[in-house]
Amino acid sequence: MDSLFAALDNGAEKAPPASGATVPVLMPVALDQTYDYLLPPGVEVVPGCFVLVPFGPQSRIGIVWDEPRGIQKPVDPKKLKALTTRLDAPPLPIISLRFAEWIAKYTLAPLGMVARMMMSAQEAFEPAKPRFGVAIVDGAPQPAKMTAPRAKALEIASDGLVRAKSELAHLAGCSTGVIDGLVAAGTLVEVAIPERGFARPDPRFAVTDFTDDQMRGVETLRSAVDGGNFSATLLDGVTGSGKTEVYFEAAARTLEAGHLVLIMLPEIALTSQFLDRFQRRFGVKPVEWHSAVSPAERGRIWKGVARGDVRCVVGARSALFLPFPELGLIIIDEEHDQGYKQDDRVHYQARDMCVVRGNLGKFPVVLASATPSIETYVNAITQRYRHVILPGRFSGVEMPDVSAIDMRREAPDKGKWLAPRLVEAMTETFAKGRQSLLFLNRRGYAPLTLCRSCGHRIECPQCSAWLVEHRFKKRLNCHHCGFSLSLPEKCPKCAAPDSLVACGPGVERVAEEVAERFPQARLALLSSDLIPGLTEMRDMIHKIERSEIDIIIGTQIVAKGHNFPDLALVGVVDGDLGLAHGADPRAGERTFQLLHQVTGRAGRTHFVGKGLVQTHLPEHPVIKAIVAGDREAFLNYEIKTRQTGVLPPYGRLAAIVVSARDKELAERTARDLRRHAPSSDKITVLGPAEAPIAVVRGRYRWRLLVRAPKDMDIQGYLRAWEAALPKFKGDVRISLDIDPYNFL
Ligand code: ADP
Ligand code: ZN
Repeated sequence: MDSLFAALDNGAEKAPPASGATVPVLMPVALDQTYDYLLPPGVEVVPGCFVLVPFGPQSRIGIVWDEPRGIQKPVDPKKLKALTTRLDAPPLPIISLRFAEWIAKYTLAPLGMVARMMMSAQEAFEPAKPRFGVAIVDGAPQPAKMTAPRAKALEIASDGLVRAKSELAHLAGCSTGVIDGLVAAGTLVEVAIPERGFARPDPRFAVTDFTDDQMRGVETLRSAVDGGNFSATLLDGVTGSGKTEVYFEAAARTLEAGHLVLIMLPEIALTSQFLDRFQRRFGVKPVEWHSAVSPAERGRIWKGVARGDVRCVVGARSALFLPFPELGLIIIDEEHDQGYKQDDRVHYQARDMCVVRGNLGKFPVVLASATPSIETYVNAITQRYRHVILPGRFSGVEMPDVSAIDMRREAPDKGKWLAPRLVEAMTETFAKGRQSLLFLNRRGYAPLTLCRSCGHRIECPQCSAWLVEHRFKKRLNCHHCGFSLSLPEKCPKCAAPDSLVACGPGVERVAEEVAERFPQARLALLSSDLIPGLTEMRDMIHKIERSEIDIIIGTQIVAKGHNFPDLALVGVVDGDLGLAHGADPRAGERTFQLLHQVTGRAGRTHFVGKGLVQTHLPEHPVIKAIVAGDREAFLNYEIKTRQTGVLPPYGRLAAIVVSARDKELAERTARDLRRHAPSSDKITVLGPAEAPIAVVRGRYRWRLLVRAPKDMDIQGYLRAWEAALPKFKGDVRISLDIDPYNFL
């Protein structure tokens, strides 16, 4: 990604515009330009501040920009509208404006859509709603009527703290009616609850004793922070080597220097384990930012970040768009994780955008992984990134002993999914009182339901995909559009009763087999669709950590970020799943990462673990590298493949998906689009071809893939192409994805 390092201009601050002047305002909608508004008397604005403006028939929130952007149509000055008012919310820092522009230019998304991602906290822009609570009135007489619940509530309130009514009622074990009664009696009084502040992480709260190898890593990162300039460092080491401990020191150094820290984690890894470790190192829990944070909390955090009250955020990819005024470090943990790529609206790779943000803000970026992405790894070995290597596990325990089970020779019994050797290993592990984990990256009970009498396969009516049986919920679900049907009793086609059979395994089916084989074992089934929320998920993980579970069966949510001390055996039910995605250049990489991560969960702290991978392709380079524990063998194989194919990072890709409800229109438009592609002797356009998932939500899909050598301006080529296009009529949608990760 050469262009990530293009020279960047930070822009200087200017004097605020005077009343009567016009100001450029960017609207958070799919438009690529600012609009001028008159500044009414008495309203003062600064670049980055939020304003209410008349926009079409509506009144909407926009952002005051520092310069007009996009192609401006001349407007009759008499027709200019005035902005309505400035909002209370703290302004976006200027650097956020530059960052938005950079992303828009790179992803070719409208600037307004990028800015919209920076406003993903609705409540930050609404007038503060004071919350009310109750407190005891000093010296107030006891209420005339004293009951046991009243006495209990008053006893708790006697500490003088302000509490929400519901909280006090909860603590006292009574209804809020009791609290209302005490307010009516004048013993308690309603007062505004002061807005909660943010506890500051203390960089010196705890001291870690590092090994020599770790210490070298700590020193490298500290000097990157002290350098006060942009750098990118790959922190490379097996799981358990201490990467987290090491990067905490970089965070501590940054906090000490008075700058803010952002730690990015793939969403699912925002485990309580991580939060607890942060607390042990810094004395307080970090501020979390992810999809499960409530709207009110989002508003509070957004403002806290903008005001500099939040010193460290731990977040999923969208945390990158928080309004950090003085960011001094970004750490991207599990940098290889696919969850960093956003696949709708603005298609961006958060990991790459973190590097851009570091470059803009002139501070270091640390990318941590045990299985780095090829892109990052190549940057490290070509010395564009610094490379810190932590050679072994801190515990000194060897990496697990992994072997393959050749399913062609050691097939499971008919109707079963676990090979005899895997079952034997599980039996042994259970007998020793240790944990086993079975991994299958497929939700539900069975990926296909088939009619035995007429051969009908139950498909989604809106997508070209089979419906997946979810037996616990007694439903058939489409994993592409969410369509759902209750499990039919007879074939929907030929109406034969009891003729439907489930084909192939999902995690639920594996769990069923395990329950039959190990009736005494305590099982846990972890799949995102079976766990209602974050709390339940965290509870389950805690149970596993405390060894209250013997056998864990799970999808990829078990592969990441957790440390299960008693886990001795990991069985991969289908090691080949994921290898067969023909067009996806990262299929091998992703499978390697997933298998490496999941087998690496076994035996992390006090004994050597064991991994067994069921496969039909034991000779595949990915499977061989997993079994041999030879990461470099895989990386070298993969780097060669990418070089030969001119694939990332040796080439650049952009995917175009054309879709329409009408089958023919989709195809015709895709072909027409192709015909308008500017000719180039360096850039190839592949396709159009029907997408592997040809229909999603009733829309027919065709794909084109643009491939360019890495030094070519692929965005420039795409812009020229777009300019040459006619207006497509009808309900055609064309989506553009620079650096695509999804090839379906
Ligand atoms: P990684 O992030 O590479 O998976 P961690 O930082 O999670 O590794 O370290 C693995 C385990 O070893 C953790 O429980 C961690 O607390 C412990 N650990 C690593 N380094 C040290 C150290 N220097 N002192 C004490 N504990 C350590
Ligand atoms: Zn569907």
